[in-house]
Amino acid sequence: MGSVTETLTRDPTLDALLPALLVEDPEEQMVTDALLSRVDVTARLEQLVDGLAALVEAATSPQTRRAYESDFASFAAWTAAHGLANLPASPQTVALYIAAQQDQLRPTSLVRRLSAIAVRHREAGYPPPTAHELVRRAVAGLRRRHNVRPAAKAALVTAQLSIICTELHRQTRPPTVDGLSGRQALRARKVAAARALRARRDRAVLLVGYAAALRRSELVALNVGDLTVDDRGLRVFIQRSKTDQEGLGDYIGVAHGHPPHTCGVTCPIRAWQEWRGAMATATGAPDHVPGDSPAFRPITRHGTLGTPTDLDVNARLTGQSVALIVKTAVGLLDDEHRYPAADYAGHSLRAGFATQAAAAGVPLDRIMRQTRHRSVAIALRYIRHADVWTNNASSALGL
Ligand SMILES: [Zn+2]
Repeated sequence: MGSVTETLTRDPTLDALLPALLVEDPEEQMVTDALLSRVDVTARLEQLVDGLAALVEAATSPQTRRAYESDFASFAAWTAAHGLANLPASPQTVALYIAAQQDQLRPTSLVRRLSAIAVRHREAGYPPPTAHELVRRAVAGLRRRHNVRPAAKAALVTAQLSIICTELHRQTRPPTVDGLSGRQALRARKVAAARALRARRDRAVLLVGYAAALRRSELVALNVGDLTVDDRGLRVFIQRSKTDQEGLGDYIGVAHGHPPHTCGVTCPIRAWQEWRGAMATATGAPDHVPGDSPAFRPITRHGTLGTPTDLDVNARLTGQSVALIVKTAVGLLDDEHRYPAADYAGHSLRAGFATQAAAAGVPLDRIMRQTRHRSVAIALRYIRHADVWTNNASSALGL
């Protein structure tokens, strides 16, 4: 199944499943854990399951289907040989399977098999056993044993975001309904409205996340009231971050990077205002979005706010849905060779901020004020290749 495996490892929908099992940045784990202790864990797990449902829908290519089946068949054969149930399988069974396979399979292959197990359970109407803490810990242990450092995510910078935001803006246009019957036109309008709502949200997530250099956990924790617009720009209040021991929170300013009143499709302030407006309209309260409601929410296939199984308008995006939004956005660049979706995730926005700001010659202390790094060493890790030649000390040596 060489070619199938090849396809599967490059499949962005599958890759999006991985954050459910692995946290891409060990430093980020602390923030995630802190947030988890503050939110309803059950609700979070439900969102995770909903995220999987959406991915199952997305994963309809015959090759992907075959690969899922082959991966699940391997698991089923193992459970049969050990007299264990596989559908539904208990988290203990899955954890045992991981332990049994740890010498045969590389962690990436094993995680792919877990994805297949999760998908099959979801399709059969069972909660995926892979979401269980026991399984997560088994995978984390395996990673440590193999000493595999998760690959650093690629940085998404302004040139790419500009193309992405232009396309997302185009997706908010009303559809052409000339020549369609009344019913067809109605349907076309509904589909376009759902697409427009999603495009507005994604543009706001990308631009606010990028300009404020937010961790994905900070992005999803934002409430409407944490974002305030004034003449100068957008003020973002971050309720708690890992460098803020007292829990007082931080304010981040996002300024217009252009003359006043010339806000284009890449303006984070305009993107936020448009999404907030769309959210207000979608909830049927055009004048008021409660300040304590989530700033970024899931959208169902039918274009309503909430999750596919729970139409709670107060549902919140998860970290992995941010990763999926970034990957989908990278797909709009339409150049899988230069920009493989698998290389990008939620962290690409924050890494992109540091990279772009450094390339523009912004001094490190100002970059760190936005990224809220206390340690220069860690901040420097964020500033990637771009900064090799800006402010390069060797140019001052007189050689
Ligand atoms: Zn602007």
